[in-house]
Amino acid sequence: MKVVHYPHPALVHATRPVPRIDKDLRIQVGQMIETMYEAKGLGLAANQVALPYQLLVCNISGDPNQKDQEEVYINPVIVDRKGIQEDEEGCLSFPGLFQKVRRAKTVKVQAYNMQGEAVEITAHDLAARCWQHEIDHLNGIMFIAKMGPIARLASRGSLKAFEQEFRDAQKRGEIPPDADLEKMRQALEEGLNGHH
Ligand code: ZN
Repeated sequence: MKVVHYPHPALVHATRPVPRIDKDLRIQVGQMIETMYEAKGLGLAANQVALPYQLLVCNISGDPNQKDQEEVYINPVIVDRKGIQEDEEGCLSFPGLFQKVRRAKTVKVQAYNMQGEAVEITAHDLAARCWQHEIDHLNGIMFIAKMGPIARLASRGSLKAFEQEFRDAQKRGEIPPDADLEKMRQALEEGLNGHH
């Protein structure tokens, strides 16, 4: 499992609700958690590994030994936001790019856990930032869309470099062409509604 980088098309498509928790999903969640730790991230949305599912994993400690901090949520929705915080934010799909992003200080999230139980979580500060960042991903929204004008301007060079790198990797055949990536996404979406 690999984290896809901007401008991979998986990052701009809203993901689909997960209809059931089965063995395949458990395996994918385990791989996502491993991938998140390897990349030294605090959170990972399923479409960042090209899975078009409403699914995220996070551990704001970033420490694989702190299992009690590990969280996996399915079909998460932000139902309430309070306050404002501005801080530096990064993204595993934009390695090395950090910019100030304004977020709500507190969010209330409704989701399902891996046992299929409905849960409601209130998170503050860094945890709230992580939730907002990952849930944005699931809706096809990247953090560059949430930057203010100064941060956006300061990111222009990095974004051009990411775009160039991605297109070059496609030319070398290391990443399939966009049309093939699109077909793969559609096949995975259809697989959600079929039987395993
Ligand atoms: Zn991200």
